[in-house]
Amino acid sequence: MSHPTLRADGSDPQQETARLAALASTGILDTPPEASYDAITRLVAESFHADWVGISFADEGRIWVKSFWGQPMRELPRKNSIFDLVLAQDGPVVIPDISKLPELNGHLLSHKILGASFFAGVPVRSFDGKILGLLVIYCREPRLELTTEELRVLEGMANMVSNELELRRLHNKISGQKKVRRANSKTEANHSWPCKADLRRALDLHQFVLYYQPEVELSTRRIIGLEALIRWEHPERGLIAPKDFIPLAEQNGLILPIGDWVLDEVCSQIQRWCSEDLNNSSLKVCVNLSARQFSRNGLTDHIHALLLRSGISSRQLGLEMTESSLIPNLNTAKEVLGSLRKLGVSLLMDDFGTGYSSLSNLHSFPFDVLKIDGSFVSRMNDGDQPLQIVRTIIELARVLGMDVVAEGIETCDQYRVLRQLGCRFGQGYLFARPMRAQAVNCLLQLPGRVLPNPDGSSEQREEPKDFAAGSGSNIRSTVSLQAKS
Ligand code: C2E
Ligand code: MG
Ligand code: MG
Repeated sequence: MSHPTLRADGSDPQQETARLAALASTGILDTPPEASYDAITRLVAESFHADWVGISFADEGRIWVKSFWGQPMRELPRKNSIFDLVLAQDGPVVIPDISKLPELNGHLLSHKILGASFFAGVPVRSFDGKILGLLVIYCREPRLELTTEELRVLEGMANMVSNELELRRLHNKISGQKKVRRANSKTEANHSWPCKADLRRALDLHQFVLYYQPEVELSTRRIIGLEALIRWEHPERGLIAPKDFIPLAEQNGLILPIGDWVLDEVCSQIQRWCSEDLNNSSLKVCVNLSARQFSRNGLTDHIHALLLRSGISSRQLGLEMTESSLIPNLNTAKEVLGSLRKLGVSLLMDDFGTGYSSLSNLHSFPFDVLKIDGSFVSRMNDGDQPLQIVRTIIELARVLGMDVVAEGIETCDQYRVLRQLGCRFGQGYLFARPMRAQAVNCLLQLPGRVLPNPDGSSEQREEPKDFAAGSGSNIRSTVSLQAKS
C-alpha cells in the first residue's frame, strides 16, 4: 500500500458533490447517535483489542461520529482527518506506527486528540461505491500491519453499516420524504435569489469572507477583542450582507458547513495574529453562532479540536448567540453551553433586549457577557424610556456578574452617555467599521492598541485593562447620569 498523504483541499468538487448527495439521501446526518451501531464498535474493539473504535460520516467540513467505543467523541473537523486519507486512497488505510511517517505525525487530528500511534480505517460505502464514512480503529501503541484476514473482518463490519444505510435510504424514498424535499427545492427554485444551490456553490468556490469589527474598552478605547462577521463576495453582485443569506442557510442546514468554515477561519486568524505579535494573544475574537449549530452535543468536541489544531487558547475565542437561538431546545442548549464554558471559551449573549429576555434563562445560562442591542443604543438619546432600558440592562449584568458590551455606537453623545452609565465595553462605527483582517493589522499596531478619540479631543485616559470575562467589576456608577438625565 502506498503511503497516504494529507491533501490540502479534499477531493474533486464534482465527485464530492455526488458523494454529499449520496450521503444526504441516507438521512444519516440528521439522526442522533446511532445505538444500533454500538454493537459493531464494541465487537471490533474487543476483537482487535483497540483503544478507540468509531463509526462516522463526513460532510464537507465535519466528521460526525455516530457510534464510538472508548473516549467519548461526537464530532471532529474533517481537515487533517483520517477520513480524507481513506478518501484519497479510495480504500482502507492502515498506519502501523505514525511516528515513522513524519509527514503525518503531529498533523493528523485524531493522533493529537487520542494520542494514538496505530490507525486502521476502512470505508463505509454507499451501494454505488461512494465513500460516505469510516469504520476506524485507534491504538495508543504501534502495532503490526493488519493481516489480510483481519482487514477482511474489518471490511465486513463496515459492510454491515453500508447495508443498514441502504435500507435507510430506501425507507426514506418509500416514505415520501424525497417528494417533500423535491417540493421544497421547487419552491426554492421559484423564489428570489439566492437559493440553496447558490449558497453551496459559494461555499465550494470560497466566496465567503470574514470581516472583523473591533470591540473596545470604552474608558481607554483600547481594542480588547474583535467580532467576526461573515460576508459573501459575489463576483457579479458584489459584497452581500449576512442578513441576505444567513437566514436561508439556517433554514436549509447549510449554516452547519458555513458555521464550521467561520470557526475554522477565525481560529487560524487568531493564530496568525498571535504569531505576528505575542501581545495579540490577549485579544478575544468572537464568532456568531446560529441555533442549529448548537442543537447538538458535538459542538464542544468540534471547537476543542479546532483549538488543539490551531494551538490557540480557549480564552482567545468567544461565542455569541442570541437568546432566541437558545429557546427552541433549552435543555440541549444548557448542556452545550455548560460544556463550552468548561472548555474555557467566553459566551456572549448577543442582541440582548430584543428577544424573550427571560430572566430565568439568563440566570441559568452560563454567559460571561451581555451585548446590548444596537437598537437601544441608537434610541438612547430619544427619551427617558430607551435610556432607562439601557441603564437596567447594565445594572442587571452587574448583579449577575457579567460584563456588558454596547453594540452600534455611532455618535460621541452615545459614547459619553454609555461611559456615564458604567458600560465598560463597546463597538460601533464611531470607533471602527467591520474590516478585513489586513486592515485590522494596522489598528493592532497602534500604540497600546488604543484607537484615536472620535471627538478629536485629547483627554486623560485610564490605564487599559483586558477583557476580564464575567468579572462584574465593570460598573463604577450609574449615579452620575441619573443626576444629569
Ligand atoms: P450581530 O452579531 O449583532 O452583529 C452586529 C451587526 O451590527 C453587524 O452587522 C455590524 O456590522 C453592525 N454594526 C456594527 N457597528 C454598527 C454601528 O455603529 N451602526 C450600525 N448601524 N450597525 C453596526 P452585520 O455584519 O450585517 O451582521 C448582521 C448579523 O448577521 C449579525 O448581528 C449576526 O447576527 C449575523 N452574522 C454575522 N456573521 C455571522 C456568522 O458568521 N454566523 C452567523 N450565524 N451569523 C452571523
Ligand atoms: Mg454578534
Ligand atoms: Mg448583536
